Amino acid sequence: MSASDETGDFRVLQANADPGNFLRDVRRADTRLLLLDYDGTLAPFTPERDRAFPYPGVRELLTRILADERNRVVVISGRAVADLIPLLGIDPLPEIWGSHGWEHRMADGTYRGPAFPDGLAELFAAEWKWLQEHIPRQQLERKPASVAVHWRGVGDKERERIRAAAEKRWAAFEEMDLLDLHAFDGGLELRAAGKTKGDAVHALLHDLRDSVPAAYLGDDKTDEDAFSALEGRGLRVLVRRELRPTQADVHLIPPEELLRFLTHWTESA
Ligand SMILES: [Mg+2]
Repeated sequence: MSASDETGDFRVLQANADPGNFLRDVRRADTRLLLLDYDGTLAPFTPERDRAFPYPGVRELLTRILADERNRVVVISGRAVADLIPLLGIDPLPEIWGSHGWEHRMADGTYRGPAFPDGLAELFAAEWKWLQEHIPRQQLERKPASVAVHWRGVGDKERERIRAAAEKRWAAFEEMDLLDLHAFDGGLELRAAGKTKGDAVHALLHDLRDSVPAAYLGDDKTDEDAFSALEGRGLRVLVRRELRPTQADVHLIPPEELLRFLTHWTESA
């Protein structure tokens, strides 16, 4: 069966999008760029974030795609690189842009940590010191481009104390041009601001010939920046159960349609 037959039922969202034709170009191309979000795209959400492993079948397909040197595969995630490595659980690893693009790990293992604007490293150091003085160490997390307070599993009274302390400290923060405050389920995170997944996509496209087929697969709002950056240049793929307003070209429901898309990518011309 040809790819166009098998991709005929991928839901096309934009009038000019043609995933069957795109995948035919992929099979003919001697270089391809495959950009992938992690959480919600390659892996289902789980209550325990450190157990959010890929959908069954994803590791095998990524390993096959990575074994073909025509493919450059890049995972772009808000997670730290060190978090992603054990979750991906494959060898060799793809290239990884972690912490919203503040960290890079190349496919050959070369690692580059965050290059912060002036003052930001000092700001994180100061916040980390303040947090350790006011909140129990086991409720704190320091990552390459953020500090976070967690209150999941803490008693009501202590949880309210921790939440109030962090919110009060950060609500009045004056350095918010350098930082973003992000509330998540069970905590609060202060992140280095100023990088989006769109910046990562622009950087990755910068040195690439226009003829190289490129696709980006993502599920949430932060992926829309990447979709914007890829407009007119590649296939934007929304991977999630429920369709929502999006700039994506195609909608895939994981895991079956995701696996099918990646299988098409691995086929030879
Ligand atoms: Mg995601």
